[in-house]
Amino acid sequence: LRANFSVVKKENGLENGLICVIHDVTDQEKVDSERREFVANVSHELRTPLTTMKSYLEALQDGAVDDAALAKKFLGVTQRETERMIRLVNDLLQLSRLDSKEVKITLQRTDYIKFCENIIDRFEMTKRQNIQFIRKFPRGRFYVLIDRDKLTQVIDNIISNAIKYSPEGGIITFQVFMKKNRIRTMISDQGVGIPKENLSKVFDRFYRVDRARSRKLGGTGLGLAIAKEMIEAQGGEIWAESEWNQGTAIHFILPLDQGKGGAGRNDARSI
Ligand code: ADP
Repeated sequence: LRANFSVVKKENGLENGLICVIHDVTDQEKVDSERREFVANVSHELRTPLTTMKSYLEALQDGAVDDAALAKKFLGVTQRETERMIRLVNDLLQLSRLDSKEVKITLQRTDYIKFCENIIDRFEMTKRQNIQFIRKFPRGRFYVLIDRDKLTQVIDNIISNAIKYSPEGGIITFQVFMKKNRIRTMISDQGVGIPKENLSKVFDRFYRVDRARSRKLGGTGLGLAIAKEMIEAQGGEIWAESEWNQGTAIHFILPLDQGKGGAGRNDARSI
């Protein structure tokens, strides 16, 4: 709180009273401090790869370039760091567009199970690690009103994390539950897990349980923050459940499309 006092005087100059105006500056200060923290985080996140690249480039200039094997290794490092910086800047741009409500959400009536199957198929085709997917879907067709590109990105981020933080040979379960007029999706893994006290923070920008591990795996610390913004922009909710060293489950809920054909009923007319 900020208080301003003014003394009220009579015509003869004698003091007659006191006016006190109290401003509640809590919100403004919170916004200011969040902004400062965000800028500090961005600077730090960009400085780290730049410093790494600088030292590797200096080593190359100092002679490493003449050793073919070493040069290849050092160039590989600078390339990976550059790619991570590009991902980081792209994620930042996307968040800033979401913040300024510049992002247009284009909702389309979509057969949800078919939509999820396609995403998992793509991961199964391209996966490099020995990871197995299990699908648990309710029978029938269920329609949701979603922005397909944005929801694809959300699910991509969640599955990529599940793969990143899973052991070799881990199982990722993709399950869809129906609940009245809502549809819940759960993507769970058998990976490192998240300690209970950090669960609510993983959707914060730049928050990582293990900064070094995330960075090594190419993470930006923004994937779940973007997922949260996008799910909420489509009228949904998202949260995490986890047991440390046992695995993690990310859940999100989306409203079912209650349009023609009815929720949860087979409807061959739509996509
Ligand atoms: P990152 O790019 O670091 O993966 P995210 O925003 O996607 O950033 O996730 C934030 C943090 O949440 C991660 O750094 C990690 O600590 C934790 N996390 C997210 N998903 C998982 C998971 N499936 N298993 C374990 N930890 C996870």
